[in-house]
Amino acid sequence: MSSEQGTLGSMMQTGRQTGEAINSISGGNGGSGGGHHAPAVGQGRKVQSLNPATGRLLAEFAAADAEEVHAAVVEARRAAPAWRALGPGGRARYLVKLKEALFKRRHDLAALITREAGKPRVESLLAEVLVALDGLDYLARHGPAFLEAESVPHQNLAVRFKRGRLEYEPYGVIGIISPSNYPFSIPMNQVGAALVAGNTVVLKPSEFTPQSGLAIHTIAEEAGLPAGVLNVVVGDAVTGAALVNSPIDKLVFTGSVATGKRIQAEAAERLLPTVLELGGKDPVIVCADADLELASSGVVWGAFTNAGQACLSAERVYVVREVADRFTKLCVDKTRRLRVGAGEDPDTEVGPLIRERQLKIVEEHVAEAAAAGAGILTGGRRAAPAGLEGFFYEPTILSGVHHGMRIMREETFGPVLPIMAVSDETEAVRLANDSHFGLSASIWTRDQRRGERLARGLESGSVMVNDCLSSFGIAEAPHGGFKLSGLGRTHSWVGLMEMARVKYIDVDLLPKVPKLWWYGYDTRAGRLMESFVDFLFAPGFWSRVYSGLGLLTRVPGRLRALRRPRE
Ligand code: NAD
Repeated sequence: MSSEQGTLGSMMQTGRQTGEAINSISGGNGGSGGGHHAPAVGQGRKVQSLNPATGRLLAEFAAADAEEVHAAVVEARRAAPAWRALGPGGRARYLVKLKEALFKRRHDLAALITREAGKPRVESLLAEVLVALDGLDYLARHGPAFLEAESVPHQNLAVRFKRGRLEYEPYGVIGIISPSNYPFSIPMNQVGAALVAGNTVVLKPSEFTPQSGLAIHTIAEEAGLPAGVLNVVVGDAVTGAALVNSPIDKLVFTGSVATGKRIQAEAAERLLPTVLELGGKDPVIVCADADLELASSGVVWGAFTNAGQACLSAERVYVVREVADRFTKLCVDKTRRLRVGAGEDPDTEVGPLIRERQLKIVEEHVAEAAAAGAGILTGGRRAAPAGLEGFFYEPTILSGVHHGMRIMREETFGPVLPIMAVSDETEAVRLANDSHFGLSASIWTRDQRRGERLARGLESGSVMVNDCLSSFGIAEAPHGGFKLSGLGRTHSWVGLMEMARVKYIDVDLLPKVPKLWWYGYDTRAGRLMESFVDFLFAPGFWSRVYSGLGLLTRVPGRLRALRRPRE
């Protein structure tokens, strides 16, 4: 589908939207930004944008089918050569334009994300808009330097007269599949990295947050991005599977472990390269010397921000026994004061979960823990803020938990903080590592060196000392996990390099000289090679001098032999 046919504008005319008015940021006329495939609602599969605070429908879209996904990939591939030809500097200038367009739309965008994903307005501005602005800024400033070709000096004398270079080439078309919890900043940062590295993109946002994904397309249009460079296909799991099976050159997936495994199995069929950013069960270690006032504030925020729906959420706490009661009481007091409500209310601190399905998982985890003996210190049931019928759950703290419970082993992805007292930091590290996940972790201590020492013992992709979660907003910090939490990295130069494939180019500086290792093997050639190996690696000084002399006497004869026509 061409960008004219498949524009946001045409979707806005034909797509059905009901309920609360949608924000103009996900609308606009199509054109320069490339295709976006959110076709008119018909009889087929649909995706719904709901306000999770009210449960009311904001907009409904038909899910793109395999044909439409394929067309988007074709469009992206058509746009790829011209985009690549701009070079890193030219592409970085477009990223600056994207950043400027995003800044202009920051308030519309924050309002849309709050409405569609439910998070408090402050969090939409901070964890979505600011993180995306900073990511684009970082990539525009530093991307071209990271992507510059590098010369490769050779250590071996045999190849000294060659010039080696590493070049970082785009893959071609990158497919990006996104989750609903950070529906803008996650794909925007990945899109930015893919684009500056010279790829074109087909993005499939979560079925729960299609408008936030479409907003990326709108911003690209407003930034004047060339047609076809960024394409958005709205849809569900079937649309995502069609993208995995389309002729993309690499896939960047963010979502659950279960989906990640399924995708990796599909990708293996044709060795499609992937980056998988998957789930977590991030541990928190509170040392005996921690500033408990500070630690409790940080951990409560880390557990309940975005209603606990962050991949880096504080999902389980190990606190050293001697301070466990004081720490737990502080957490409970601070949690009871949190204001639960709609994200649009400026005083709201905890919004709703994205859907009923997620609410049920949280209920199950808490009920199972309570049945197995856990204490519910606060929360533990659905919340019903006045006048709101959405998917709310009370911020909850559990005690008396152990690793036999799902609440300590599986990702809860909701506003629940189980706290477990441990005898010392060694036990805390052992329990923190007793997990299939390894995304991130946090350590709270007044002793920075202790913090760093404990961090080294944790099996996780990142560790924060005296803070949690905010590494996601540090553009220079690689983001990704160990173990089942994923493969590869996004963000930082490490994430940028995932968007490029490395090519090694070697140019011989003595093109008229035949190489000593070419055919024409005989006893003399064998002796020459022996001298050469000894000259380079024999342990004693004199044996190297001796073999060096042998080398000098044998090389001219070998070169003459190589130049003689063979019979
Ligand atoms: P999900 O796996 O259900 O869906 C994620 C995306 O995958 C959606 O766009 C969905 O439509 C698509 N999808 C589903 N099945 C598919 C299939 N078979 N083939 C292709 N695409 C398919 O995840 P979710 O519930 O939307 O997101 C929550 C999960 O994401 C949590 O586990 C969370 O920890 C994780 N997450 C990880 C990170 C990270 O950076 N590591 C960041 C955010 C969220």
